[in-house]
Amino acid sequence: MPQAELQTGRIDSQEEDARLSALASTGILDSDPEPNFDAITRLTAEYFKADTVLLEFADESRVWIKSYWGESVRELPRERSVFEMVLAEDGPVVVPDVSMHPHFAGVKLMIRRLEVASFAGAPIRSGDGKILGVLAVFGCQPRRGMAVVELRMLESLADIVASQLELRRMRMTLRRNRQRNARPLKPAAGTWPCKSDLRQALDKREFVLFYQPEVELSTRRIVGLEALIRWQHPERGLIPPMDFIPLAEESGLILPIGDWGLSEACSQIQKWCHEDPDQGAPRVCVNLSARQFAREGLADHVEALLRQSGVSSRQLGLEMTESSLVSDIGTAMAVLSSLRRLGVTLLIDDFGTGYSSLHHLHSLPFDVLKIDRSFVERMTRGNEQPLQIVRTIVELARVLGMEVVAEGIETQEQYGLLRQLGCRFGQGFLFSRPVTADAISEMLRLPGRILPELAETKTVPVECAVEPHQQENPEMEMATKLS
Ligand code: C2E
Ligand code: MG
Ligand code: MG
Repeated sequence: MPQAELQTGRIDSQEEDARLSALASTGILDSDPEPNFDAITRLTAEYFKADTVLLEFADESRVWIKSYWGESVRELPRERSVFEMVLAEDGPVVVPDVSMHPHFAGVKLMIRRLEVASFAGAPIRSGDGKILGVLAVFGCQPRRGMAVVELRMLESLADIVASQLELRRMRMTLRRNRQRNARPLKPAAGTWPCKSDLRQALDKREFVLFYQPEVELSTRRIVGLEALIRWQHPERGLIPPMDFIPLAEESGLILPIGDWGLSEACSQIQKWCHEDPDQGAPRVCVNLSARQFAREGLADHVEALLRQSGVSSRQLGLEMTESSLVSDIGTAMAVLSSLRRLGVTLLIDDFGTGYSSLHHLHSLPFDVLKIDRSFVERMTRGNEQPLQIVRTIVELARVLGMEVVAEGIETQEQYGLLRQLGCRFGQGFLFSRPVTADAISEMLRLPGRILPELAETKTVPVECAVEPHQQENPEMEMATKLS
């Protein structure tokens, strides 16, 4: 394990300037305490059975504690700090026994009342690798060295902080750009579609649900389906949801559209049950928007639908993103609990892109966590960080007793890696694009409901497949979800 000699001074000033400006671009030092950071320090303390955990960021002269677990500390001198050691090492530092470390000979290391006997710290890096801070664990007893898997966990937790900082930076950039190019909220006259187009589409029953299989990764067996709406426009063809769902949300039409989607999914479940009474339908998961979630009586509405359609609650799943829950966490908890009592499965969608991932993961009663496809995509681009994040999410879900579904699996390499990481379920173009209900009926007739290799090209007629909306700027895509 690396054991750094403490080095102070001798910092390359250009490097330090770049580091400080990377830190400033996150705005982290000017922000109020945030519960998701507390969730990380708490989790770290639980995992390492640490006496104190500090999440720290360093400016020129001081180390600022953004979140602590155990001893309450607000700031420390930067000189001789764990941060300095991690910076000097340019990587994690583990000191299993402070009394044996040459630097601390005859010196007590105190964090308020805690006399530190052992500690470890992992760097929190900016997108371009600058060390902005440290996630550090402290114990009042010497400890054996740190196993590789433990050190990886500490680094992954630090990486989660890093990815949240990156999102914060994107959000600040986006906000600045928005202010700069302040444009009217409403689409310009003549922009298609407008609210009345959506209303007509609803009246004329032009919306359709496509379904994408969710598979058990070890067998490729279909275990569930995600319902994804499309607009079958008579002249313009098949319109992807990202081209009309935002307008539907803004205009409030998402409520009737969402009601239609839920009831359509329930009647389709019934049809699949009739087609195969022995095995029944796989669980169908429907996406809920923030407005649907916030509407009074959601659980009653779902209960009535289930009763009318004769569908068992086990066959229905509801997916929502973290951003649909954030406005009022108390209400979110009550609504989720009443849905859970009905027996429907609750899935947290696009996990990892929301700003308060860990906080919600800990406190809300979700059954399944869907890892956002941006992580899966970046996992195989030779960058360790997304891989670590996926590994940590899978591990945390396991600890919390949740299932994990990886979204957007497109390549054999991603498939292989996810299986190695212990992720059990997944969906993506590698298995199948979203397809019509009829195409799904055919897949459900496959022996054991097991999708063959390269199911994508064999089972999906091109005219059924719809390309997901291509965002030209993924940074904007992520940041929009957050705002
Ligand atoms: P989502 O719920 O995260 O759905 C997953 C999206 O990823 C789908 O896009 C799906 O087609 C796409 N996808 C799946 N596998 C892959 C892959 O391997 N590679 C790539 N590049 N993409 C993949 P889609 O159908 O365009 O839906 C986009 C979003 O629209 C959904 O994201 C969901 O947030 C929203 N949406 C879809 N249907 C509904 C609905 O009925 N109600 C509401 N409120 N939102 C919906
Ligand atoms: Mg979804
Ligand atoms: Mg998703």
